[in-house]
Formats: sequence, structure tokens, C-alpha cells
Amino acid sequence: MLSLGGGTQSTVLALLANDGCFGRKPDVAIFADTGWEPPAVYKNVEWLESELSFNVVSVSANRSLKEDVEAGVNARGRPWLSIPAFLSDPDGTPAGMNWRQCTTDYKINPIRSEVRTLLGIPARSPVSMATSVEMWLGITTDEAERMRVSPDQWIVNCYPLIDLSMSREDCINWFNENYPERELPRSACIGCPYRSAEGWLQLRKSDRDSFDDAVRIDESLRASGHNATAMFRNRVFLHSRRVPLREAVEADAAEYDMNREGHWGNECAGICGV
Ligand code: SF4
Repeated sequence: MLSLGGGTQSTVLALLANDGCFGRKPDVAIFADTGWEPPAVYKNVEWLESELSFNVVSVSANRSLKEDVEAGVNARGRPWLSIPAFLSDPDGTPAGMNWRQCTTDYKINPIRSEVRTLLGIPARSPVSMATSVEMWLGITTDEAERMRVSPDQWIVNCYPLIDLSMSREDCINWFNENYPERELPRSACIGCPYRSAEGWLQLRKSDRDSFDDAVRIDESLRASGHNATAMFRNRVFLHSRRVPLREAVEADAAEYDMNREGHWGNECAGICGV
């Protein structure tokens, strides 16, 4: 199986596999749709469906992360905030980040559930010791710290781009050489707090509707009546500056701070942002 985030690395991984670079192909590529991906990612996955000789399957938690964040509920519909939002004390002092539950609930669990379905193993039934699934993940050498052993003994995480010593830049170069007429999107939820300062600037420039929607949801997180205001004594923000999103991006545009990294680091186990 190939975990298809629909962004740069997983797209290149799927295309390399399709070209026979690894001596064998996955049976299926699985795209976990959070309901909050940028339009460019959905278009890219649609294109891959027509390009690849193996199946692409879209799965979801049967609900939208965007709608759940806006409503202040988790994937079970209970009051919660699933995204790793930035928190600050009422006096503006940074107070860490919210616990991230979204990757597990809206990506990892739907993928795991689809793998079970494909293998004919009912939910919650034990998996036989003889079962072993390779899960190919699009992590590159510049993000090697995101490699993880799967918590499921019967799933073996594999990192073919690391085996090829490919970096994210190598992926972009390979893609530009082979598909000069196309552009690679970055796969991440539109309102993901891990988005870098540069990423927010790019979103505002390239997809104003999605950016405006993220601004609206960012504002809703601090509005009276939202579950986030009842749950935290802190204020909640999508941007690492811990100020309203529109204001933060305007400040970034003024500084044009292209050197600030995103917050993917040790997070997300190679599922998001690839
Ligand atoms: S991209 Fe961000 S918001 Fe979306 S599931 Fe991953 S960590 Fe959560």
C-alpha cells in the first residue's frame, strides 16, 4: 500500500513506483481526505488516478475536519479541538500548542480501516501473525526524523525515497523534468497550524478563497460560544505568531520572513504534508 498525501513527496513516490523504479508496484494508493485539503491537492489526486496503473482509493472519517474545527467538536462529535493550534495566555504570553488528534482521527484511522477492508479483516478483529502489509510513505532525507515504526505489528512502514537518498528538492527537480507542464501542490489542511509563515503567504497569494476561509475559521476559534473558548483558559490561534491570522500574515508580508520553518519537525509521523 502507498500512503498518498497528494503533495510533493507522495506524488513523486507514486509516479516513481508506477515507472517501475522499485522493481514492484503497490497494490493500491490510499488518499485520506480530511475535507480540508486545498483544491490543488484534490486536482492532483484526480490526475494521479488517471496516471497510475495501480488503484487510488480515497477514504475519510466520514466527516469534515474543517466543519468539526469550526463547530468545536472532534471526530466523534464531542466538544474538542483536534488541531495543534497555538495557545497564548490572556496577557499574550505563549502557552504551547494544543494536543494534535487530527492526523490520527482524520488520516491514520481511515487508512488503517481501509487496509483492513482490503484484506477482509473486520474492524476490531485480531490480525493473524501471518499478515504483513508494507506501507510506503513519502518521507525524504530532509525530513528523516519523521520516520516511525508502525504501532500495528502487521503494518511495516517503508520509506523508498529515503532508500533512494532523495530530498524534497530532488523530488521537485525530478517532477519538473518529467512533468514540466504541471505543478506540485503541498498537501496540508488549509488551516493547518503547522503551515509555515511562507506557506501562509503563498496560500494568500495563490488561493485567496481558501485563505479567507482560514481567516474566518481562525476568528471563530476566539468567538464567544465556540467550544475552544470554553475549553481553554488560553486564546487559540492558527498562526505561530499567536495573533489573528490576517494580522499575522500581514506582518509576515512586511518582514517577508522566508527563513522561518514550518512546524512539521517530529510531528505527523510522515502522514501529513507529503
Ligand atoms: S495537515 Fe495539519 S490540520 Fe491536517 S490532519 Fe495534518 S496536522 Fe491536522
